[in-house]
Formats: sequence, structure tokens, C-alpha cells
Amino acid sequence: MKAAVMRGIKDIRTETVPDPVLEPHGVIIKVKACGICGSDLHIYKRDEQGTIFGHEFSGEVVSVGDQVKGIAPGMRVTAVGFRPCGKCFWCSQGKGHRCSNMALLGYQFPGAMAEYVHIPFAALGRTVFPLPEELSYEEAASVEPLSISYFSVNRAQPKPDESVAVLGLGVIGLYAVQVLKSFGVTRILASGRRAARLRAATECGADVVIDAASQDPTAAVMDATANMGVNTVVECAGQQDTFDQAVAMARGGGKILLVGIYEQPLTWDPLPAISKNLSLIGCLGGNFPASIELLRSGKVSARPLITHRFTLDQAAEAFRAQLQDPGAIKVMFTMD
Ligand SMILES: [Zn+2]
Ligand SMILES: [Zn+2]
Repeated sequence: MKAAVMRGIKDIRTETVPDPVLEPHGVIIKVKACGICGSDLHIYKRDEQGTIFGHEFSGEVVSVGDQVKGIAPGMRVTAVGFRPCGKCFWCSQGKGHRCSNMALLGYQFPGAMAEYVHIPFAALGRTVFPLPEELSYEEAASVEPLSISYFSVNRAQPKPDESVAVLGLGVIGLYAVQVLKSFGVTRILASGRRAARLRAATECGADVVIDAASQDPTAAVMDATANMGVNTVVECAGQQDTFDQAVAMARGGGKILLVGIYEQPLTWDPLPAISKNLSLIGCLGGNFPASIELLRSGKVSARPLITHRFTLDQAAEAFRAQLQDPGAIKVMFTMD
């Protein structure tokens, strides 16, 4: 089959690789759409050999292992891909979905930037999720990143009359804006840098959009909240300056959701967090069923975020666009 394979620093090639082999607890899916994730780009910049990315995807089940229940060929699905270690406490209890040492699809074993992908641990409703008819394959490939935004925002349980700032307007931040909207939050402030993403933030429902390249986000938020600051900050950028802004713009008793992945350790003065009684909440997780329902009901739309579409044969071009094109938000492979 055809797949996009890493062959060195920023070198990705469309090659012919062996077809995946079906395992007893696995399913093989014919891939219909697959997004490039920010996490893929971190590795794309390194000298990696042989990695096949792709964990934000959807497709049609073509074969099913004999130990798998309730999943049949022909089903339209999206899925979470991991391989349980088989050795840890949870695996020894038969609870592979809680494995503490799992290998991840698209990193430790081949992902969905290929014609077919093998999901080694297929459990209906737990790792493999059937798609409602209303969902296109492209939308279904957006469930994974949306699920991270949903999981994170849900940790804060925001109320409609609260104000919430979203820092960092990549895909996770832009979905966070839409999820906040779906919670009924009426005062959403969004801060980011690129023109295309600032426009998308407006389209996603942000009430105040702050260009962090030309404005001080903290001052802008204070201005827009009569110097009160916001109830909750969703920190999706993972930078020292956005972390500092989050602490500075959160009001007394406020919450800071730490969603963005920090590539560097932080230095920070905890005193403002102490004196304002702030809650810092780490967020790592997803919720596929809730995200599928948000897309199905139309409360969240993938449309403003998908900016580029490529075929598998254009893998090199697709990765260049995701990394370099200032207009790129989500670059998607479509296989039909
Ligand atoms: Zn991702
Ligand atoms: Zn395990």
C-alpha cells in the first residue's frame, strides 16, 4: 500500500510499504481522511526514519480480528489507536485501555497517513467509534483534536455568565472557542498571532479577538473586562509568555487550564497565583462521543479550520504547507 514515510529532517515521502497485518484484537481501516497534527510537526523537524504519522483520521472498516465484538466491515468509523504493553498492572487485569505504558498510533507504530491503518486494540465505543450519517469523513478526522479541546474546557465547567480567554489559536484553541460557545459562555476572548487564525477565531464565535503580535494580550483582556480579568484562561500555546499572561489575566478565584505542551520548563513567581487563589488545572485527555455529538448537532464546525487538502501522493507538499504556510490551520489528507 501507499504511505507517507519520514526519511530524515523535514523529509517525508510517499512510498510503497507492506500492507498492515490483522491481529486478533485489531481491525484494519481503509483511511478516508487524516489530519496533520502539531505533534507530528515536532517530529517532522527531527531526524526520524520510517515513522508513518496519522492519529486524527476516519475511514471504513475492511477487516476485523476474530476476538473483536460489534465491529463489522463496512462501518464508517474514527478511532483511537494504541497498543497496550501486555505487561503492566492494568494489562494483567485485562484492562488494556488503561495501560500505563501504551505505544501510540502514528508514532510508535504506523499511523493513518496511508491507504490502510491497523488499530491493534479495537473495542466498540471505547477505541472505535461509529460515525453518524451526518458526519463527513473530513469532520470525523477532526474528532480527535476536538476531543482534546472538549475534555479541557469541560474540566473548568464554565458557566454562561463567565468570561473566558483562550490563548493560542491553533486547532486546539479554535475548537476550544467553539466548545465554550456550546457551553453557552457569552464572553469569549481569543488571543493569537496569525491573521488567518484571528479571522477563524471570529468565525468560531470569539467575542473579542486579540492580535498578540501587535497588542499586549493581558492589557487587552483587562480593558475588555473592566479590569476584572477573566474567570477562566484556556492556555493552548504552551509558551512562557502565554503562561505569564494567563496568571496575570485570571481574576481572583479563577482557573487556568494548561492545555498547550510546553517544550521548555517554565520560570514563574507563584505569588500572584497564591494571592488570587487561582486553580491551575492540567489537561490531557479526550472525549470522542461528546465530540462526535458536537459535530453532528452542528454546535461545532470543522469547516473554518480545514484550510488545505492534499492527496497521499502530495505528502511532502502537505507537510510543507502545515509548517510554513501562514494561512494553514488544519491540513488534511483526503483519500477519495
Ligand atoms: Zn493530534
Ligand atoms: Zn500495559
